Amino acid sequence: MPLYEYLCPTCHHKFEKLQSMSATGADCPNCEQPAKRAISVFAAVSKGGADMPSPMGPLPPLGGGGCCGGGCGCGP
Ligand SMILES: [Zn+2]
Repeated sequence: MPLYEYLCPTCHHKFEKLQSMSATGADCPNCEQPAKRAISVFAAVSKGGADMPSPMGPLPPLGGGGCCGGGCGCGP
């Protein structure tokens, strides 16, 4: 089943919704106005479906902290 991404033109709330191919639209859960379909991606059902795919992907680690930032000893 495709996962559709919607962008509400009224309050700019972004949300995703699993719908059948024949579905025509969705209402914004925030302001309950009809939202516009932005993009569609296929849901990774085999992944477990626990987390929603992010359009920006995982955030890169911030420099200066965490692993290889000098604190853990694995860096140069
Ligand atoms: Zn809205």
